[in-house]
Amino acid sequence: MSTRTLALDDRSYDYLLATSLRESEVLRDLREETSRLPMSRMQISPEQGQFMALLAELIGAKRVLEVGTFTGYSALAVAQVLPPDGSLVACDVSREWTDIGRRHWQRAGVAERIDLRLAPAVETLTALVEQGAKGSFDLAFIDADKGNYDLYYELCLRLLRPGGLVLVDNALWGGDVADPDNHEPDTLAIRALNAKLGRDERVSISLVPIGDGVLMARKR
Ligand code: CA
Repeated sequence: MSTRTLALDDRSYDYLLATSLRESEVLRDLREETSRLPMSRMQISPEQGQFMALLAELIGAKRVLEVGTFTGYSALAVAQVLPPDGSLVACDVSREWTDIGRRHWQRAGVAERIDLRLAPAVETLTALVEQGAKGSFDLAFIDADKGNYDLYYELCLRLLRPGGLVLVDNALWGGDVADPDNHEPDTLAIRALNAKLGRDERVSISLVPIGDGVLMARKR
């Protein structure tokens, strides 16, 4: 028993996956293909994908924003549980990576629901705000360049409806945010956003130690 969050050893983690992971064949294939890329560490864990899909179902998400799509695993995990008229705006700058995702989105039959915008996400999000999309999204997932995290958060918050949810990935950053001697730019950016959300009265929050840490913020 434990009164604090367990650090999972390999045996417990394997048990967690073996018992609870419901990963579709397409998701598994996409994860395996991505794991062979040099940048494979940028992919979220399968249990995190399942957690995000469950959150999307819980809040009845129809309109989703994703900042940082990479090879499309999280987009696929969430798009699979959206209603037929649901949509996910996926922001990324890499055609090479998102092409891998696109193939799998098509195979899974959800490509129509995913609106890929190949441009800097700040441009895409700002354009959405200017086009009057404020308050129209249910869920946002931020998992891109850490230096822009604060800007992404502020833009996503404007685009979310009250009761909508922002998920910020890599909130624990491999433990580096807790190391006072670590002053890497990415660490500083994540640490600053964590600290800001810790006292941001516009949202209710929980920092969930799944994957590399997901900071959840529900817009009030
Ligand atoms: Ca990430």
